[in-house]
This record gives sequence, structure tokens and C-alpha cells, in this order.
Amino acid sequence: MKKQSSNLKTLAVATLGCKVNQCESASFQSCFEEQGFTISPFEEVADIYVINTCAVTAKAAAQSRQLIRRAQRTNPEAKVVVTGCYAQIEPQKIREIAAAPLSIVGNANKHQVIEAALAGNEPDCSSIHNPSGEYFNDIAVQQEMSLLPVKRFAGRTRAFLKVQDGCDNFCSYCIVPYARGRSRSLSQDKVLEQAVRYAEQGHKETVITGIHVGHYGLDLKPPGSLLDLLKKLSAATPNVRYRLSSLEPTEISRELLEFMVAADNFMPHLHIPLQSGSDAILKKMKRRYLAGQFIDKVQRCKEMIPAAAIGVDVLVGFPGETEEDFLQTYELLENLLITYLHVFPYSKRPGTPAAKMANQVSTKTKDERVAVLRKLDHKKRIDFYASRIGRVHPVLVETEKAVGGLAKGFTDNYIPVRFKTDTDVSNRVVPVKLERLQERFVLGTLL
Ligand code: SF4
Repeated sequence: MKKQSSNLKTLAVATLGCKVNQCESASFQSCFEEQGFTISPFEEVADIYVINTCAVTAKAAAQSRQLIRRAQRTNPEAKVVVTGCYAQIEPQKIREIAAAPLSIVGNANKHQVIEAALAGNEPDCSSIHNPSGEYFNDIAVQQEMSLLPVKRFAGRTRAFLKVQDGCDNFCSYCIVPYARGRSRSLSQDKVLEQAVRYAEQGHKETVITGIHVGHYGLDLKPPGSLLDLLKKLSAATPNVRYRLSSLEPTEISRELLEFMVAADNFMPHLHIPLQSGSDAILKKMKRRYLAGQFIDKVQRCKEMIPAAAIGVDVLVGFPGETEEDFLQTYELLENLLITYLHVFPYSKRPGTPAAKMANQVSTKTKDERVAVLRKLDHKKRIDFYASRIGRVHPVLVETEKAVGGLAKGFTDNYIPVRFKTDTDVSNRVVPVKLERLQERFVLGTLL
């Protein structure tokens, strides 16, 4: 692409939602930087605003609309590009609330964000198949994943590498398959190329992300597998630490755990969605496992990798969730050796089967249940951190110092750590002895 020749100079990007959106936004930023743009904070006046929206909950959709209004208020002359899942699901709503014309770019066309931004409100309709002149293709028929290259994640030690997009599961509450289409994977060569690029740019840790990472490779010809990809990544960039963003419980195989034990650069950290501990609710959600299978999987992880951090997603207040169902979820989590919880209240997403189900749970009950589980999350974190006191862990030190001049970073098993040091060890992996528990982190000593 040609260097931009207009007098547009500054770009501000706002990102909502998942790690996949963060990955894509990082790609927009690095591509615009190559075009000669300066990146400015979203609150400030910029020439172009890119808003990478999310639709996973009603709250995320409302925040997406707020950001659009805010950008148009901050600089009414700016070119505004709206992309992401909310743009894909409700483009007409965006048109209604916009104070001035803007460009809407669907998820299948994200690679055209830059063209849309530079063209402003006159997208090049010849390159697209949409009579309204938007950068908008049918997401349901997308068979290939477009590569959005990222040079580096500015200001971060950790980089995210999107290897897969879309989902074929259609869980009954989830809007994602409608917003991101069928599961599709990036070829192994392209993943490796991007991983090497991150390593060359100095990133010491990369998180492998996708919408349904466990389905990586199944659509490729010939088919590939996530485990095979991880083995190749680990070998190609031995000095980079790797984590997986999330894996369904059914996708955590013994072979994967054996690989994690054997590979020096694969971190003992898994994030596994449970959603509910009640089999009746899991079935209504169309999840593909039962509570007992989830328990077995977590126990196996802890047997094979005792120091592993295990994060769990929970969805609270699904239609028909009784007090008894909720109690089953609570007890399951309380009794398992897990490290932290990400708790979400169920949010009705128009167009999904769950939105039409009877016995929707009141907001008050959902809020109460979320609060109970967030308390449990805090307890679990503290218990896990306490169980590692006295041990030495490798810590990747962040570039930014914590308040009080302490260096900060995360251990291999994702414990936030702070420690004193007179030398600059930022962006290095150093051994730290974990000494004292604080409210949200552990104080340690650099060895
Ligand atoms: S696995 Fe289920 S919850 Fe996850 S993205 Fe796919 S449909 Fe949504």
C-alpha cells in the first residue's frame, strides 16, 4: 500500500472485548504507523478513530455505541471507522446513532480497515459486494482467515497471536458464531512467520489466541492440529514463552499435557471455560461436556502439572438457572484446585436460541450470584498464591515499573509479582523467590 499522502496524521484506536479483538487492533495500529501515523490516546483529538467493537453482552454493545458517540463528539471532523462484532451484527443501529457519516467494516473485511479509514466516507465500492457501499461481506460464508500482520504490541512485553477465527459450536447463548462465522485457521507457515517476527521484535512471551483455538487446523488442507502447531512454535522460537488463551475441557488431551510438561517454553497455565456446574444447564447451553468431565479434566491437569494456574470462565444466570443449579456451580468450583475465575452475568443476545427461552433470571439475582462467585475468585487467587510462597519462579518483567519503584511481572504460572531491583531487568525473564502475599500480588526477591 502507498504511504498516505493526505494531511491525516493521528490515529486513535479503542478496543472492546476479547484477545482476538486486541490482536486485530494491534495490527491496525502497526499498519497505520507504517503509513506514517502517530497513535494518540482515544480521549484526545485525532484525525481517524478506529473502534473495534464487541457484541458478546448487551453492556459491550452499549459501550461500543458510547465510543462511537465519544469519537464523533471529540472531533466532529474526524474519519470514524467502526469494525468488530457489534459492527457485524447491528450495522443499522450504528448508522442510527451516528452524528455524522462513518465507515462500517464487517469482521470478514477487517483487512480493509485501513483503506476505509483513508477513504473516509467514500469506500471503494468496486472491491466489495455490498450495495450499501460498506466494507461488509457475508461472514457465514468466509472460508479463509485473513492475516492481519502485527509488527509488535507497542508498550507490552506480551504479544498475542491470532491463529484461528470463528466458531462452529453455536452454544445457545452465544452471538459469536453469527458475528465471526465458521471456524477457520491460519496456515502453520503464516503462524510461524508471525511468531518469529514477534521474537525478532523482542517479545519474550506470546499468547496463542483465537475464538475456538482447540479447533485450530481442522479446516486446513491437509488438516493440522493445535498440538502439532504448538510443537513447531516451541521449537522454532525456543526463547519465547507461550501460553494458550482458552481451551474447551474436551480439547485438553493427555498428549497436550505431556507436551506442556516436556516443553521448557510452554507455560503451566490453562484457561478452561466451565460456564455452569449444573448438567441440566450445560445441556440447555448446548455445551459439549458434563460437569463430571470438567472435574476429571482439571484434576488430570493438576496431577500432571501441579504448579499449573487454571483459570475458569463461568456464566451466571442462564435462563432457568435455579438456586440449586447455581449451588452446584459454586460447590464444583469451591472443591476444585483452580486459580481464578472470570465471571460473567448471562446477557440476552437477540437472535440466539437462549434469548427466547422461558424463565429468564432477574438482573438482581444475576448480580447477587456474580458477587458470590467474584468473592470465591478472590479467595481462590489468594489460596493459589499462598501455595507458592517460598518457591522460585521465572518472572517475565514488564517494562513499566509498579508504584513505589518496584519491578513487576508475571510468573510462568501467572502469579503477579513485584520485587525490588537496582538494575534494569525489564523485558527479561529472571528468577524470583515468592516471599509475601499482598492483596493482589506477591512480593518477591530477585535471585
Ligand atoms: S464455543 Fe460456544 S461460547 Fe465459545 S465462541 Fe463458540 S459458540 Fe460461543
